[in-house]
Amino acid sequence: MSKMAREEGAATGPASFRGVDERYAGRNIATQCVHAGERAGESDYYGSCTPVHHSTTFMYDSMQALDDVFQRKRAGYVYSRFGTPTSTALERALATLEGADAALSCSSGMAACHLALLGAGVKAGDLVLGSSDIYGSTYQLIDTMFPRLGLRGLMADFTDLIALERIMQAESPRVVFFEAMTNPLIRVLDVPAIIKMAHRYGATVIVDNTFTTPLLLQPVALGADLVVQSVTKYLAGHGDVLAGAVFCRAADFDYLYTMLLQTGCSLGPQEAYMALRGLKTFPLRFTRQCDGAMEIARFLEAHPAVERVHFPGLASHPQHQLAGELLGGKRFGAMVAFELKQGDKQAAFRVLEALQIILPATTLGDVHSTMMYPPHSSHASLSREELARVGISPGLLRMSVGIEDPEDLKGDLAGALARV
Ligand SMILES: *Cc1c(COP(=O)(O)O)cnc(C)c1O
Repeated sequence: MSKMAREEGAATGPASFRGVDERYAGRNIATQCVHAGERAGESDYYGSCTPVHHSTTFMYDSMQALDDVFQRKRAGYVYSRFGTPTSTALERALATLEGADAALSCSSGMAACHLALLGAGVKAGDLVLGSSDIYGSTYQLIDTMFPRLGLRGLMADFTDLIALERIMQAESPRVVFFEAMTNPLIRVLDVPAIIKMAHRYGATVIVDNTFTTPLLLQPVALGADLVVQSVTKYLAGHGDVLAGAVFCRAADFDYLYTMLLQTGCSLGPQEAYMALRGLKTFPLRFTRQCDGAMEIARFLEAHPAVERVHFPGLASHPQHQLAGELLGGKRFGAMVAFELKQGDKQAAFRVLEALQIILPATTLGDVHSTMMYPPHSSHASLSREELARVGISPGLLRMSVGIEDPEDLKGDLAGALARV
């Protein structure tokens, strides 16, 4: 429960209900992932884990109790689009990890991005300023979909702070949206500086923390107004569930919650259960993935078929020092992008088809390693010119490092790269 919620006398209200699990607030993230959100009900017996509550509707002993929940005077459940005990358990666990007053679980990461943008209070005429190499669907949402509704969308290079400030000064964006680690080129942004700058110009800041995860970065603590996660990726981690979350301050919860109800992008109980189940091993998986990624980046950098490796843990990465300061200096995420020498689509496809262990698949963050070709998947919505403008070359491959043995992964890469 946040200090803010307590001051507002909302200790039992819906925001704190979906907030930090105080029992584990000061603990290490490994402990939080195992315990937070679980066994938080009001019965006098508990299962060790929260069950899947499939019921779409909920009843109370008195009509007054139901009325209080409807009026948001007390926390509770009325209808599953409004939340279920299973999704609340997940929300409390996630809010604890991100250090946020409240979390709202969503049916996907894109639903979370959309909800955060709407929840930031955008209206026709407002400008949404987005970082130019964010996730492809988010790019399209800001750059193409919103403008159809009368919003203005502008994409810019957020690694250039001087140019960025000039844009903010000239355009007064209503919302600034970025990912701490960009996709697919794994650039690292100066998150605290960008948040401060955006606030100076009166913008609401949304940070997509999917690639960095709360283990490397907590944007809420750095001042971000809203944070989003594609829980589908590292947090759930097993490639079997689609889920997302928005993190907000207690004061902003009601507006976001109303948006959630109106958009209907709520997370189902089965998915909430699976995400919560996956979350328990997230720190184990993610540290292993980050360490494996470091090894693989070094291997690729030394490989004759590889022109260039994009990984912030390498000294050759343009934001290596910044990444160290921002992410704690030990780990740099588990995404590695690389460009084939004289690479084109055919060469990239030959590599993908020759892989024996790494799955040629369009996702990231799973226990299994995956590799994909950004120009035809995550960034398929971008035109040739847009791709060139954001620096995505035709021989670019992006790997999400899983928890397999790094030696086996390197062997698989060596075999596939021998084909080009
Ligand atoms: C995958 C992803 C999303 C979208 O999440 P879904 O769960 O696939 O809807 C948004 N942002 C980033 C950074 C992602 O990697």
